[in-house]
Amino acid sequence: MMLNKKINCDFEKKVYIHTYGCQMNESDSEIISGLLKREEYSFTSYPEKANLILLNTCYVRNKVKHKIYSKLGEIGKLKKKNPGLLLGVCGCLAQKESEEIIIQAPYVDFIVGTFNFYRLPQIIKKVRENHKKIVQIDKQGILPEELPKLRKKRFTAYVPVMRGCNNFCTYCIVPYVRGRERSRSSEDILRETKELSLEGYKEVILLGQNVNSYLYKEKDFADLLSEVNDIEGIERIRFTTSHPKDLSEKLIERMKLRKVCEHLHLPLQAGSNEVLKRMKRGYTHEKYEEIVKKVREAVPGISLTTDLIVGFPGETEEDFKETLKVMERIKFDGAFTFYYSPIKGTKAAEFKDQIPEEIKKERLRRLIEVQQRITEKKNEPLVDQKIEVLVEGISKKNPEELQGRTRTNKIVVFKGKKELIGSLIQVKIVASGCWALRGEVLRKEIQ
Ligand code: SF4
Repeated sequence: MMLNKKINCDFEKKVYIHTYGCQMNESDSEIISGLLKREEYSFTSYPEKANLILLNTCYVRNKVKHKIYSKLGEIGKLKKKNPGLLLGVCGCLAQKESEEIIIQAPYVDFIVGTFNFYRLPQIIKKVRENHKKIVQIDKQGILPEELPKLRKKRFTAYVPVMRGCNNFCTYCIVPYVRGRERSRSSEDILRETKELSLEGYKEVILLGQNVNSYLYKEKDFADLLSEVNDIEGIERIRFTTSHPKDLSEKLIERMKLRKVCEHLHLPLQAGSNEVLKRMKRGYTHEKYEEIVKKVREAVPGISLTTDLIVGFPGETEEDFKETLKVMERIKFDGAFTFYYSPIKGTKAAEFKDQIPEEIKKERLRRLIEVQQRITEKKNEPLVDQKIEVLVEGISKKNPEELQGRTRTNKIVVFKGKKELIGSLIQVKIVASGCWALRGEVLRKEIQ
């Protein structure tokens, strides 16, 4: 493997990377950035200033796919003005639709998939030297360990623990673009986490498309959580994404560990058992609610978020109302809400009884209304409470303010000195809302 060979060239290497989709894609982009930094690339957030453009793509819904093709169109114009500009596509859409990408954007110089993006430096070198397009889509593969990472955030870090998914939910493309489940060695995960704590990181987010089906030499996810919990310096552990069918009693017990944050993201997707069956989710809403009850008993005050899809093929008005009823019973702290999008290559895209767009949009509007009301109600009692916040950085909305997260994964904005960034502080909540809480800094002596 030629990973350590540095590539010489005589022009200033400037790359623009655009990442679409989930946290796993963001984590992959951190690896890609680490590899390119080692090749002495510098980074720009302006595509017009780059001589290498990389789109790390997603294919979870058609909406994002259309966004990517229109972005490719825009970049096509840039390439006309700057023929030396190199354009590459990687990620899930590349893994699934490399031929379509070449048809729609023949000026793309290279396409790599989700299993071999770590070979990008060599592929870019070859394209530059031979002026020939390269398309390399592997069907399977293991990512080498100890790849360099250029992390976006300073105090909270993604640590992928497993990749792929064996569940084949009928609406989901992930198993077709990310392959079968494979878990990283726990030694490598612990090595990476120890390095992070030495670098001053306070929080790690253990990542996987199906994180709680992690299994490495009889060590399951609950065992891994305990080992990560023992690492000094790390104060907070988060994990995502979980599947209800893999949330064992043992794992629920380990969620009581001190550093494991009181937040669980547990996709429900739908409330009707008929729809859940056709989605091949592997549980009923009763089973899901039973798990929620156990989790809330084990970790009082835990915040629960979920994913919800409306307008799945065949979903009746009654089925949809089942989803609303489950939401009213469970009262999620928040939800990522979508209307069903038929993805080519998934089973459900072939189902006959597709729901008309306007009905899907109408149900999504009603669903969001219900969830926003619930979230506001859930956040109200937090006013006047003193809560620990990890200060993550400058507020996205107001550069005069800072923002951070509670252990329950709620965003808090507040006035404070930049020196507070990276520290765990106590904040008094003075106002609550649907998207964020407003706070006042109490004291900075927690850490
Ligand atoms: S569990 Fe289902 S929804 Fe999640 S990644 Fe796997 S197939 Fe997709």
